[in-house]
Amino acid sequence: MPTTSATAPVSVLGLGLMGSALAAALLKAGHPTTVWNRTASKTGPLAAQGATPADTVGDAIGAAPLVIVCLTTNDDVRALLAPEAGALAGRTVVNLTNGTPEQARELARWAAEQGVSYIDGGIMAVPQMIATPAAYILCSGTDEKAYETHRPTLAALAGTKWVGDDPGAAALYDLSLLTGMYGMVMGVVQAYALVGSAGVPAREFAPLLKGWVGAMTEGLVPGMAEALDSGQHLTDVSSLAVNQAALPNFLAAYEEAGVSGELLRPLQGLLDRAVEAGHGADGLSRLVTFLEKG
Ligand code: NDP
Repeated sequence: MPTTSATAPVSVLGLGLMGSALAAALLKAGHPTTVWNRTASKTGPLAAQGATPADTVGDAIGAAPLVIVCLTTNDDVRALLAPEAGALAGRTVVNLTNGTPEQARELARWAAEQGVSYIDGGIMAVPQMIATPAAYILCSGTDEKAYETHRPTLAALAGTKWVGDDPGAAALYDLSLLTGMYGMVMGVVQAYALVGSAGVPAREFAPLLKGWVGAMTEGLVPGMAEALDSGQHLTDVSSLAVNQAALPNFLAAYEEAGVSGELLRPLQGLLDRAVEAGHGADGLSRLVTFLEKG
C-alpha cells in the first residue's frame, strides 16, 4: 500500500456499502474520520471503529479540510452540498459518486463559484477491494494542487491515478472501464445461460469460461488499440464477414435451447451495417467507428 499521512483529518458523507468501506479504511490508516449519513444508524459500526459521527452535514464538513462524498447519484450530491456552500468554502471535495463527465463538470463549475476545490473520482473497486493493492481511484479536476495535497490521505483507500484537468475525465475513464466490464459480464451471463440450458453445472464450465475470456481479453484489448490508433483495421485474426456469418448460429442455438438472445442480438445489426459498407475483411476494431455518431 502507498504511504499515508495518518494525522490528516477527513470527513466522509454517505455511508452506504462503498462509503462505509472508505471510512473504515481511513480509520484503519489512523485518520481522524468524521462520518455523516442520511440514515444516522449507519454511523454506528464506524463509530465503534473510532469514527466521530456528525449530527449534521455542516458539522461533518466543518470537521476536516477534505470531504469525501459517496452517494447514489450526482443529483443526490448536488442536493446535499448546495445548501452547504458556506461551510465548504476553502475545503476540498472529493466526489466518488458514479456519474457522467458532464455532471462532474457541472459540479466542478458550481464548486469553483463557491471557492471550493473539487476533485471528481471514479472508484475502480468493489467495497471489499478498498485498501487492497487491486483497487484504484481515477481522479481529475482543475485543481491538481489540491489533489497532490490530499493524495496521501486518499492513498489509505487505494492507489490514485490522475487523468487530467478536465473534471469530467475521471468519469469518462470510469464509465469506459465499466463499459468494458459490463460487456464482459453480459457475455458471461449469456454463456452460462446457454451451457446451463443443457444441464451443464456452472462450476464445471467455469474454468473453461474463465480461461477463454482471459485469453481473449489479453490479446484483443491491446490489438484493438493498435488498430484504432493506426486506422489499420484489416485483419488476419477474425474478419467481420466471418463473424457476420457465424452470429446467426449463436442466435439459432439460443432459440433451440429456449434461451433469450437479447444480449447479443444487437450485434447482428452492427455487423450487417459494417459489412454492407464494405468492411467485411476488417477486424472487430472497425465496429468502434460504427458506434461513433460523428
Ligand atoms: P449504497 O446504496 O450502499 O449507498 C448509497 C448511499 O447514498 C447511502 O449512504 C445513502 O444514504 C446515500 N444517499 C442516497 N441518496 C441520498 C440523498 N438524496 N441524500 C443523502 N444521502 C443519500 O451504494 P454504494 O455505497 O454501493 O455506492 C455509492 C456510490 O459509489 C454509487 O455512486 C456507486 O455507483 C459508487 N460505486 C459503488 C461501487 C460498489 O461496488 N458498491 C463500486 C464503485 C463505485 P442512506 O443510507 O440514508 O440511504
